[in-house]
Amino acid sequence: MAYLEGLGEEGASVLRAHEGGYTRYWLESGEVRSCDITEDELPLAGFRPVGGPLPALLGAVSAEFGPQLPKLAAELASGAPDLDSVERVLRDSSLGGGATALKVLFEQLDEVLPPPDCASCGKPMSRRQARKKKAWLTRLGRVEVERSYYYCRSCGTGFFPLDRALGLEGATLTPGMLSVMAETTPMMSFDAASRHIANLAGLNASSSSLQRWSLALGAEVLR
Ligand SMILES: [Zn+2]
Repeated sequence: MAYLEGLGEEGASVLRAHEGGYTRYWLESGEVRSCDITEDELPLAGFRPVGGPLPALLGAVSAEFGPQLPKLAAELASGAPDLDSVERVLRDSSLGGGATALKVLFEQLDEVLPPPDCASCGKPMSRRQARKKKAWLTRLGRVEVERSYYYCRSCGTGFFPLDRALGLEGATLTPGMLSVMAETTPMMSFDAASRHIANLAGLNASSSSLQRWSLALGAEVLR
């Protein structure tokens, strides 16, 4: 059994995934023992959570909500609770968890995109060692990712496959955030739009940013 090769010494365990959970094997008094465990029990058995991005997402959500819940419970029990602020805190935490989920999913996609060939000469492109940071403003707030850059050694051209796969090359805003802006900025001042977006969508977009983006978009539309 090849998967038991890691069981060299007493105390070491090997984990094997199967449908519906995992089996943990370990060596005790020279004999191989085993027991079935679930995803939730992995940390208890000394294993890091496995199984894709879900553990990272759950960790992010619990980091967002964990510190808030006792304060919110105290506020609600105060006799004259500021319900609006409780709702806002929970909404912001939800958005924060969602933004982390989007980051994890984006970076997971970046990992599995196939290395591209150069569009000009057809040669395989090379990946630059260091990933580069990029932030997009989304319906969930600011989402910063680190993604790979590929370039052609012959032609010198390059691009970010993730940005291309998402249709976000050269963009600052996702289509979702663009539609939030399109619903507000033509109708009111940039100051009012900034307040409106914060109140309705829980997003921080300063009036100067809105103005800058509107000008950039206007220039694009007129081109
Ligand atoms: Zn090339």
